[in-house]
Amino acid sequence: AADADYLISLIRSVPGFPKQGIMFRDFMPVFADARGLRILLDALKANLPVGIDDFDAIAGLEARGFLFGPAMAAELGKGFIVVRKAGKLPPPTCTESYSLEYGEASIEIEREAIAPGERILIVDDLIATGGSASAARDLVIQCGGRVAGFSFVMELLGLQGLQALGDYPTSSLLTMP
Ligand code: IMP
Repeated sequence: AADADYLISLIRSVPGFPKQGIMFRDFMPVFADARGLRILLDALKANLPVGIDDFDAIAGLEARGFLFGPAMAAELGKGFIVVRKAGKLPPPTCTESYSLEYGEASIEIEREAIAPGERILIVDDLIATGGSASAARDLVIQCGGRVAGFSFVMELLGLQGLQALGDYPTSSLLTMP
């Protein structure tokens, strides 16, 4: 509990960013803090939604999933797969489009990054509506992988984000309104 309190004390809440009415939760101070970063990685490893032998690789969402996903993967002895916004990765890629509040977005994985049937743990810093993570789930499946589960640092309450993912093992370390 002391560790969780310490992590929460590092998360900065910024009203009105990136637009009015949004309370932005800023995780960057956790990464800047040696103790915070250690606690974060240990907690992610200790709260995996599935057993260590139940997944083969970790896929992280751009951009904040890139900050801890590779460290987590290295410490767990797994590989790391990048899920990027469309147009950043060289072909061949798998692409998944999904709708945002206004308009559409597309995300991509390099086609060769996932072996057929590989079991993928999807990670991101924060789940709000679950739209981004659901798109990553569909992308992994489209690319021939299987989704082993989801791991988040934080879950925003009241948005039913985890339920939006469907019937998969999930874990989130922290919750905030
Ligand atoms: P969702 O798709 O609605 O679940 O939103 C989650 C995505 O938006 C994740 O990729 C987050 O990194 C990002 N996000 C949404 N709100 C916040 C926030 O308050 N802090 C940091 N990232 C956020």
